[in-house]
Amino acid sequence: MIDVLVIPGDGIGPEVVAAARAVVQATAAPLRLHEAPAGWDAFVRGGVALPADTLAAAHTASAILFGAVASPSAPVAGYRSPIVELRQRLGLGANLRPVHSVSADLVVVRENTEGLYSGREHISDDGATAIAERVITRQASAHIAHVAFRLAQQRERPQPRVTIVHKANILRATCGLFRQTALQVAADYPDVLVDELLVDTAALQLVAHPERFDVLVTTNLFGDILSDVACFHAGGLGMARSANLGARHALFEPVHGAAPDIAGRDRANPLAAIGCAAWMLAHLAQQHAAVPALATAARQIEQALAWVRDHGPLTPDLGGTATTGAVTAAVIAALGSTAQEVAR
Ligand code: ATP
Repeated sequence: MIDVLVIPGDGIGPEVVAAARAVVQATAAPLRLHEAPAGWDAFVRGGVALPADTLAAAHTASAILFGAVASPSAPVAGYRSPIVELRQRLGLGANLRPVHSVSADLVVVRENTEGLYSGREHISDDGATAIAERVITRQASAHIAHVAFRLAQQRERPQPRVTIVHKANILRATCGLFRQTALQVAADYPDVLVDELLVDTAALQLVAHPERFDVLVTTNLFGDILSDVACFHAGGLGMARSANLGARHALFEPVHGAAPDIAGRDRANPLAAIGCAAWMLAHLAQQHAAVPALATAARQIEQALAWVRDHGPLTPDLGGTATTGAVTAAVIAALGSTAQEVAR
């Protein structure tokens, strides 16, 4: 049995994670799923957003399936976003956010541990000036660039391309270092085309011409925003999945947040979270070649997801009227028929 830590979190996190669990448990994947708390509810109940037991379990699990956490916009003493902390504590340096549809087939590769999410923010004593330190290191920039170029090679498009996204004309030191480092790394991958865009131009191009992109590599905040823009082309936030990858750990989470506006109403789209579970199984399959049931389950879920995406039922964000529960049941029902196809 392979140990997976499940962190449902807040808002719709527990709803979509329950859906993903139900789908995984309907396959023959030999996983042992443990749940642990983190997020705003955990903070309100126990005073800690990322309890020590949860962090310890994250360190020992083979993979982590994460829902979403609600982080208040106003500062709250002692609260820090647990997902940002998990990325830093587990060394999850790369955040991969793929978007796949008829109009777009791209991956945003986002540096995940530094940039403006460094956690180094402070406010002056009179409350009139707030300062955030944007930390960019050569090491993390080189690492994320290698991840992006290797991914471009693996995607095997006729002409692989990596677009380096930055704002080096204004942020000369930080984006300048990121850009220069990524361009140096590019020299190691002569088979991959490299180009660069300022982040504002990249945002417009992602809206207007998504087909021009293959792999984008960028810093933490830019990647967070651009991946939300890009996922518009594949059904929006309810469909967008992401992987946080490090040398020793892997965490899979939907791109969406806790969505308090729809929480508790059985109308959250579970397909992003179910897609994360499929991706996690495929990742585990690579590490456990002797357990073919993992890859089989991953393929089976991907096919069931594609079937439900094309035939419904769908939740309101995709124009349907179905509940989270009904969509989940449809995915599980589709597993039965895809299992035969996968076996063939
Ligand atoms: P975060 O900053 O934590 O990513 P956010 O405040 O930017 O979160 P979300 O919580 O992702 O935003 O929600 C943005 C909008 O998208 C909301 O209107 C929400 O209802 C909708 N949304 C997000 N996820 C889903 C989902 N799985 N199904 C349906 N609608 C969703």
